[in-house]
Amino acid sequence: MVEGIGASSGIAMGKAFVIPTWEWDFPEKLIDVTDLAYEFERLYDGIRHSKDEIELIKQEFVSVLGEEQTQIFDAHLAILEDPIFMNEVQGIMQRQYKAAEVAVKEAIDKFVGMFDLLDDGYMKERALDIKDVGNRLLKHLLGALEETLPPKDQPYILVAKELIPSQMVHLDVNLALGLVTMLGGKTSHVAIMARAMSVPYVLGLEGKLQTPIQNGDYLIIDGDEGVVYVNPADDVIEKYKARKETWQAVQEQLQKLAHLPTRTEDGRQMHLAANISSVKELDLVMKNGASGVGLFRTEFLYMDRSSFPEEEEQFTVYREVAERLGGKPVVIRTLDVGGDKHLDYLALPEEENPSLGYRAIRIMLDRTDLFKTQLRAILRASHYGYVKILYPMISSLDELRRANEVLEEAKKELAAEGTPFRPDIEVGIMIELPAAVMISDLLAQKVDFFSIGTNDLVQYVLAVDRMNETVAHLYDPFHPSVLRMLKITADHAHKHGTHISVCGELAGDVRALPIWIALGITDLSMSVQSILKVKNSLLQSRHSDGEKIWAELAGCASSAEVVTVLTKYLETDIADQTGRTRPACGFS
Ligand code: PEP
Ligand code: MG
Repeated sequence: MVEGIGASSGIAMGKAFVIPTWEWDFPEKLIDVTDLAYEFERLYDGIRHSKDEIELIKQEFVSVLGEEQTQIFDAHLAILEDPIFMNEVQGIMQRQYKAAEVAVKEAIDKFVGMFDLLDDGYMKERALDIKDVGNRLLKHLLGALEETLPPKDQPYILVAKELIPSQMVHLDVNLALGLVTMLGGKTSHVAIMARAMSVPYVLGLEGKLQTPIQNGDYLIIDGDEGVVYVNPADDVIEKYKARKETWQAVQEQLQKLAHLPTRTEDGRQMHLAANISSVKELDLVMKNGASGVGLFRTEFLYMDRSSFPEEEEQFTVYREVAERLGGKPVVIRTLDVGGDKHLDYLALPEEENPSLGYRAIRIMLDRTDLFKTQLRAILRASHYGYVKILYPMISSLDELRRANEVLEEAKKELAAEGTPFRPDIEVGIMIELPAAVMISDLLAQKVDFFSIGTNDLVQYVLAVDRMNETVAHLYDPFHPSVLRMLKITADHAHKHGTHISVCGELAGDVRALPIWIALGITDLSMSVQSILKVKNSLLQSRHSDGEKIWAELAGCASSAEVVTVLTKYLETDIADQTGRTRPACGFS
């Protein structure tokens, strides 16, 4: 058994499909002059196979993305025909009598190094392309047998060193039973997407496996416990088969709660909304009885393509979400890229500290062309449902004012064109920077709502990179400093009558429910996977306990004490007060 970090709940059992890392290690091999012709033949064979493979992948992607989004593969094919690259390889072989793979590796290193030196995001991207294509070619020259695409006809557990959000867009949830990565963080966007897709996920196995997982190994992954078994014994398989059945039975029990009113035991109405990244997730949102969409992360619309989506395309998506929610609210967050979310076609500077760098609203306030396009699309969609706008990463009144100026321009343009939109659309901000918390009294007077983003707030309050597994143990949402930040924000929002909700991952953590009750926060938005678990506890909680809980929480000096208070409240208090056995569905 290998212990990692559980990032998406559930149990998966099946064969591993390993995405190769393509970090080849081979000795420098010299050839005899008489072997040169044969060596060239090997090189051309490798190129042919690589091209065939890229064509194949391109075809796969065309069916998902459409023709125009697959230019990246044309660029890869072009590198394999590029005379400068090829002359370099052939030159090394001819002049230095080096084997084809050695020459290819040297040529890749040379060009990647050259492009990397340039202070130009676009050229750095090209360096990545050369590396990718070069590594594919090396794979063929070395006769490595790794498959590059998961099977299309049988289920698998995807294993990778690291996954990026754009790879998740292509994951076929019918075949991907689970995910395992060596790196990554629990609040990374890959983890968030896995939860949204209800795919069990364990991460953080780096340095913990005695031998690397191989294609075809039989794996059991437990996303709740954060453990992975590689080729386990029969008794472990039997035990997990039984656990999986129990897990499914619990899910079925929970499902029965979907259509009950979302009220605390003493009758306080709460709203449990869903966080989504794509229209695809709406079926699950409805199935789980969500009160709406509390956070639509629009950046995934912008990923895995070669250019920005046009206004019309964005409008179509936002409108569909608004219409399908049938009057329930959808909070559309404006583009939040940077950090771990990357767009191939947006040349961003290389940064030492991307999370503290050029992200989200900071980019949009420079690229007001892109910002206005998105705002126009959101405004247009507001005519077809209950749409709200949310700005991410706000740190000052000035940023808010500048964002609102662009919004006003967009409104004026639409009004002049006679395009319908909701003029009094509600506008809110993410509270995810300590700076925003500390001026939340001022911000509260300028917006319609706050949405607390605990994922970033925790990372910034504690100075712990949410993506870095080395410091993952320090990423602690229950730290008393975080609680105090939440309290300040909630108090300011209440004082000024500003609506407040929480949309970070903490909202979906059952243990945190007493915190929201204590702070008088009745709106939460979370991964769809968490809605019914939270509801299960909520139905048995008492809103009137809020003050008492806060009195205890406020006195906590450590996160261990905070967790003790929360657990005590969830496990003992409610059972005692209600006289019922709890929790109804086996979750605490
Ligand atoms: C957050 O920071 O809590 C949040 C909801 O935004 P994201 O996870 O997309 O950064
Ligand atoms: Mg955030």
